[in-house]
Amino acid sequence: MFVDSHCHLDFPGLAEREDEILATMAANGVGTALCIGVRLEEFPRVRELAERHAHLWASVGVHPDNADCEEPDVARLVALADHPRVVAIGETGLDYHWHKDAPEWQRERFRVHIRAARATGKPLVVHTRNAAADTLRLMREEGAGEAGGVMHCFTESWEVAEAALELGFYISFSGIVSFRNAKELKEVARRVPLERLLIETDSPYLAPVPHRGKTNEPGWVVHVAEEIARLRELPLAQVEQATTDNFFRLFRHAQRPA
Ligand SMILES: [Zn+2]
Ligand SMILES: [Zn+2]
Repeated sequence: MFVDSHCHLDFPGLAEREDEILATMAANGVGTALCIGVRLEEFPRVRELAERHAHLWASVGVHPDNADCEEPDVARLVALADHPRVVAIGETGLDYHWHKDAPEWQRERFRVHIRAARATGKPLVVHTRNAAADTLRLMREEGAGEAGGVMHCFTESWEVAEAALELGFYISFSGIVSFRNAKELKEVARRVPLERLLIETDSPYLAPVPHRGKTNEPGWVVHVAEEIARLRELPLAQVEQATTDNFFRLFRHAQRPA
């Protein structure tokens, strides 16, 4: 069984096709997916997905790209995370690609999420784009290693991966690793220790080859696993087993299907 460690099933393009998407997951052997919160206003929809389906889980957080939305504080995140279907805090982090002015509110929001993760014992789902140095600095300053977590949709250098691994974090690869021009990233995917590697779709975005350009869905995480198996010259079953074991080790509040 495969696990999609990061998807947005509540987003338009996926929400209205729920039955079809769950059927493709089942057909492709994708037995679990983590549905990621990006705004508190929309969090009830994410939580409801996890309440309705035993093999879907939820995270709670506010994405660093989202400027005009309810700003979380630690107490609010801790309260929302106090639910058996909520297994992680995020997605959170820094994104200086969409916010080129590198605003202070992003860093403050990230600190709030790290504190909430430490308070709840639920791991972090970290998004970083054009902001690796600040992301790692804040993770160190706030003791993110104590909560643990994953660097999701990883697109950074080996040096950044190594620094995150040193903090005890996992590294998750999306469909980007299957893109022909992602040469440096493929090299990183060869080097991350197998016991720290996760796979994800980040659907509806970033569909892997051979579906590149289409609306992505969790069932297609299999193609991410196939690319990693190819890069590392491992049997697909070994990548499947390792990434699934890693998911349930990291997100220990999620129960593995029988
Ligand atoms: Zn993200
Ligand atoms: Zn995401």
